[in-house]
Amino acid sequence: MNIKLTELDHRKGEPLSFQVTLDAVDLKNRHHEIRSLTPVEVEGDAVKLGNLYYVKGDMKADIDFICARCLNPFTQHASIPFSETFALADDPVLEDDEDSDIHPLEGDQIELDTLLQEDFLLAMPTFPLCEEDCKGLCPTCGVNRNDSPCTCSNERIDPRLAGLADLFKDNK
Ligand SMILES: [Zn+2]
Ligand SMILES: [Zn+2]
Repeated sequence: MNIKLTELDHRKGEPLSFQVTLDAVDLKNRHHEIRSLTPVEVEGDAVKLGNLYYVKGDMKADIDFICARCLNPFTQHASIPFSETFALADDPVLEDDEDSDIHPLEGDQIELDTLLQEDFLLAMPTFPLCEEDCKGLCPTCGVNRNDSPCTCSNERIDPRLAGLADLFKDNK
């Protein structure tokens, strides 16, 4: 998806709405936690204000992960906001502020696909969890502790210090 700069120039500050779909296969191949996902539906608008071009919106997809703690598959209904700013490559604003997030525009259009893919992948978890407080699997008996509690004691006490732990217990 490309947006022609002249089109935004002509609109004189009036936002231009756009819709685009990102290919799921390519995104899945670039993030190893993603098991599968629906095509990513992108909705946004672009506008020129002053000398800067702004693009913002939202990406929606259903993404299948495996929980890193309990190993259960789950689906996340993701809604990922994005917001990018562009300036012409020769705009002094790019020199004034070297570590700004403003992207230089080389040609006569804004090329969105690569940026949107990057934004999407950055929003993906490196440690996906089915629930924020997923209890995970018991390291002793292997039961999924979200489904059924087990009676294993998983306090890791160094056997050499076990006597010491008893001592503290008595003193409580
Ligand atoms: Zn889990
Ligand atoms: Zn257990």
